[in-house]
Amino acid sequence: MMKAIMVIIDGLADEKMNELNGQTTYESAHHPNLDRLAAGAVTGYFDSCPQGYTPESMPCILNLLGIDPVYYPQSRASLELLANGYKLEDDEVVLRCNLAAVDNSNHLISFNGGNLTHIEMKKAVEAINDTPMDIRLIHLSDYRNLLIMKKRYFQALRCKNYPPHEYVGDNVDVLLADICAKAPILKEFVSAAMEKLKNYREDKLTYILYPWGISEKSSLPTFQELYSLNAAAVCGTEIARGIAIALGMTLANPTGMTGDTDTDLILKAKTTCAMLDNHDFVFVHINGTDEAAHRYDLREKISFIERIDREFFRIILDELSPDTRIYVCADHGTSPLSGKHTVLDVPYIIKKPFWKNEMSITTAPGALTELKAADVLNYLLTVQ
Ligand SMILES: [Zn+2]
Repeated sequence: MMKAIMVIIDGLADEKMNELNGQTTYESAHHPNLDRLAAGAVTGYFDSCPQGYTPESMPCILNLLGIDPVYYPQSRASLELLANGYKLEDDEVVLRCNLAAVDNSNHLISFNGGNLTHIEMKKAVEAINDTPMDIRLIHLSDYRNLLIMKKRYFQALRCKNYPPHEYVGDNVDVLLADICAKAPILKEFVSAAMEKLKNYREDKLTYILYPWGISEKSSLPTFQELYSLNAAAVCGTEIARGIAIALGMTLANPTGMTGDTDTDLILKAKTTCAMLDNHDFVFVHINGTDEAAHRYDLREKISFIERIDREFFRIILDELSPDTRIYVCADHGTSPLSGKHTVLDVPYIIKKPFWKNEMSITTAPGALTELKAADVLNYLLTVQ
């Protein structure tokens, strides 16, 4: 019986850098277990990002899972909602909604909660929910919130809207003009929220709620429909959990998986082995690499890669049966120098027993050049 695991290491790829004598963090890190895996596998670099998309986790992970872009949600909001245990109705849409701050002339000066503490952010947002409007506000964490509203409030769902983290310094009246024109109730909501947030006003800073990233209900095919296999997922990060739920995977949910570098990787490895006992396929997502790079922390990224090797892959290689198919890759690059996602080919390792019989699909030893990232999972799972 075929058994396979896929491990996506978020933001693993990065550029060769002078700080590391011309190496990437992955090249510079010590990872004997991954080397052991690679020795009996196909390895290389591929383009993980689907055409026409920027290298963000949602499109890249869906692409690696072999999902056709026609099914992708318009934004990650609908998947974040699923990850938090909510279901969207067919006649509803969900938007992302940042607690942001503007200066006296309405220029965005913070996309992530200004100077408020976690507790203040939560309290501030909860107070807004008292506003009697046909909009439901759900506080996720810190500055992150979601808005649920009826589709009929939108004259058109396609509208220009701007990720606030990319537009710090711009005037919010301009940034929110189109979305508020398409759904005038949002303009009322933003004003009502601003009024409530006055309690938190500082000298040159006013808090606002900033809606963006609309999404309808997710309509992804299930993993079972796509591959005729039952799948489980081991992941702590919201976006990965949302994807797993949308694809109908069984979500393992032990506490200790934080989605950051403090996650319990031994628990993750043991949970993966346990889930593989009664599932054909386990999808594992490890996020700390991306977080360390967003914090510009080169050393933290390297030491986390080494910990993934030592704590996660050692157990995986020691405990899983040798005929388990193993696929390791990154969803995209995240540079610890710029702190941003990068358009770079990402490393992969594909271990499929007997793959050498399929050498016709490769043009050079160790290179899977004929296959696109979107096709690799199907190749891995094809029984041969
Ligand atoms: Zn990512």
